[in-house]
Amino acid sequence: MLESSGSTLSNESRLVDGFGRRITYVRLSVTDRCDLRCRYCMAEDMTFLPRHELLSIEELARLGAAFTELGVHKIRVTGGEPLIRQGVVKLMAALGRLRGLKELCLTTNATHLRRYAKALKDAGVTRVNISLDSLRPERFRHLTRHGDLPQVLDGIRAAQEAGFERIKLNCVALKNYNADEAPELVRFALDEGLDISFIEEMPLGKITDHGRAAEFVSSQQLRASIEQALPLQRSDHDSGGPARYWQVPGYGSRIGFISPHSENFCASCNRVRVTATGRLLLCLGQENSVDLRAPLREHDGTEQVRKVIDAAMAQKPKEHDFTQQQDEPKILRFMNASGG
Ligand code: SAM
Ligand code: SF4
Repeated sequence: MLESSGSTLSNESRLVDGFGRRITYVRLSVTDRCDLRCRYCMAEDMTFLPRHELLSIEELARLGAAFTELGVHKIRVTGGEPLIRQGVVKLMAALGRLRGLKELCLTTNATHLRRYAKALKDAGVTRVNISLDSLRPERFRHLTRHGDLPQVLDGIRAAQEAGFERIKLNCVALKNYNADEAPELVRFALDEGLDISFIEEMPLGKITDHGRAAEFVSSQQLRASIEQALPLQRSDHDSGGPARYWQVPGYGSRIGFISPHSENFCASCNRVRVTATGRLLLCLGQENSVDLRAPLREHDGTEQVRKVIDAAMAQKPKEHDFTQQQDEPKILRFMNASGG
């Protein structure tokens, strides 16, 4: 059962790091496993964690409670592929009941959304981000190694039918794989009333089948290619996160660009991540981490784990130092292990 310790709730996050940044947003990874093998995210042959190392659904729910008691008001559940974790709907329902939580979000590859979209909406999920790197079936399969585009498009449709507040597509653009499709992907988002963000690939985990530096395409280059097909206007929308937004006149869709290489956004970082094994990652691009599993397993309730989280804030690094020329991974853990 979740604790409802009202005395520690406040509107403002108590979590402040050594650079004065207030942490209001947590990304919780619920599994490192996935039914796809996107080429920028995983190697073909991955070794996954033994199940007993993962936080249980109860531990994840208690961790969510601890963070909201510390003033966090946004939680995103991610992975790996979160919808292949058994009990994920139950977890969402527990998180959805937390006092103080304003946004409960999910990042998914959509392969299981037809089955779960309505239950997730009923559980309290407000927003869904869906990875979609191509609208061409052959290319989609190649990029994801196993993916079936019609299944994913049907998952997107199911999310639309379930009525989430906003649905956003995430596209990792790679120069020789899918960057040429950026205008088509934006056109699809506009027609479907979805938001879309383009993400520069980050050097997380060792991949062997493409050079990350050779595939680098900057947000500016993508914008220029989109502008050849569609008029883009800078939008003043600010999600408080790393994306910068544009719009096409006459459409409600937000077109975001997340540029860890070309526009460093660390000064306004408001987030931390927790891996599926309960390691608190203070920065996606640095190794600093703190174990939250031990305090969750050794103590009931949230008091102990809150103390550990609070103390960990002092270790949050100032910034990542990804560079565009990087083929060797800056960080050895893959994105699926980081809670992407
Ligand atoms: N499986 C879910 C999905 O694909 O949406 C959630 C987890 S996935 C790791 C979360 C996000 O990280 C996806 O949008 C994916 O495209 C992105 N991602 C994975 N590896 C990345 C990398 N090396 N650089 C940038 N983004 C990456
Ligand atoms: Fe799976 Fe998401 Fe990684 Fe693709 S990006 S392999 S869908 S975890």
